[in-house]
Amino acid sequence: MTKLTCEKCDGKCCKYVAIEIDTPESLKDFDDIRWYVAHKNINVYVDDDYQWHVEFLTPCEHLGEDNLCQIYETRPKICREYNQDECPFHNVYEEKFTFRNIEDVDKYIREVFKKGKHVIKDEIED
Ligand code: SF4
Ligand code: SF4
Repeated sequence: MTKLTCEKCDGKCCKYVAIEIDTPESLKDFDDIRWYVAHKNINVYVDDDYQWHVEFLTPCEHLGEDNLCQIYETRPKICREYNQDECPFHNVYEEKFTFRNIEDVDKYIREVFKKGKHVIKDEIED
């Protein structure tokens, strides 16, 4: 397989942190999502496997102005094990849903959750 190059990229993969979260199942859970996205630079998204994530749009302190890692030799394991198949520069991802603010969550509650169209990840894995 051809090794992908980072040459033309501005270090996209070093500019966010995404953490998996449980699928919200109640209005109380959705209210927590409303709270996350009420904060600046915080999104919640659902990937194409129906896994929910909270995403912090913030660059790593060790990304240099040249967009290269300044601590390459001692970078964390998660950076060493980064799979280029997940690279957001060379791949186009189609998220199922992205919530950037409280209005996005309220719309989802109205148009998806309350209409019974909400998908729980465990249900589709069975
Ligand atoms: S997003 Fe992809 S191309 Fe850009 S620095 Fe990261 S691995 Fe390289
Ligand atoms: S430690 Fe280096 S490779 Fe890891 S996120 Fe920061 S700049 Fe990127």
